[in-house]
Amino acid sequence: MSLHGQYDPQNIFALILRGDAPCYKIYEDDQVLAFLDIFPQSTGHVLVIPKASRARNILEVEPTVLSAMMSAVQYLTRIIVDELQPDGVQIAQFNGAVAGQTVYHIHMHIIPRWEGLHAGEHGRGKAEAEELRALQARLVERIRKA
Ligand code: 5GP
Repeated sequence: MSLHGQYDPQNIFALILRGDAPCYKIYEDDQVLAFLDIFPQSTGHVLVIPKASRARNILEVEPTVLSAMMSAVQYLTRIIVDELQPDGVQIAQFNGAVAGQTVYHIHMHIIPRWEGLHAGEHGRGKAEAEELRALQARLVERIRKA
């Protein structure tokens, strides 16, 4: 599975969407779900995925879905910046294995960055559950107050 191929309904994000796998949910609306990356490249690494689309990547995604994803990315980036006060934020999206894609349900990465702190390797190093739970609580509370 890489740049071209069939959507696999057993991919981990499809399982999360169906409630068959857990996630640290931060936000959801009728079009998108956002949750913490459990192998974060930095504190507060959030993934935004469309709920209904079966697009694997940028080539396949419906423009209206992409638009909803990007609106959510902007909203959540503002929330993350307010709560975590990073010095910068990377927004990333990968298409095909050679470009770094490992999950074939389109998603956007929001990766807060701090001066002097290198981002971790992509998709490596699982975060502690307690740390993820605490972060989830902070971001959910920040959204509640927004
Ligand atoms: P990609 O490499 O496809 O751009 O991004 C996939 C992302 O999903 C990676 O950053 C990886 O850490 C994350 N990821 C992989 N498996 C899981 C999982 O089970 N739960 C969560 N929350 N993130 C995952």
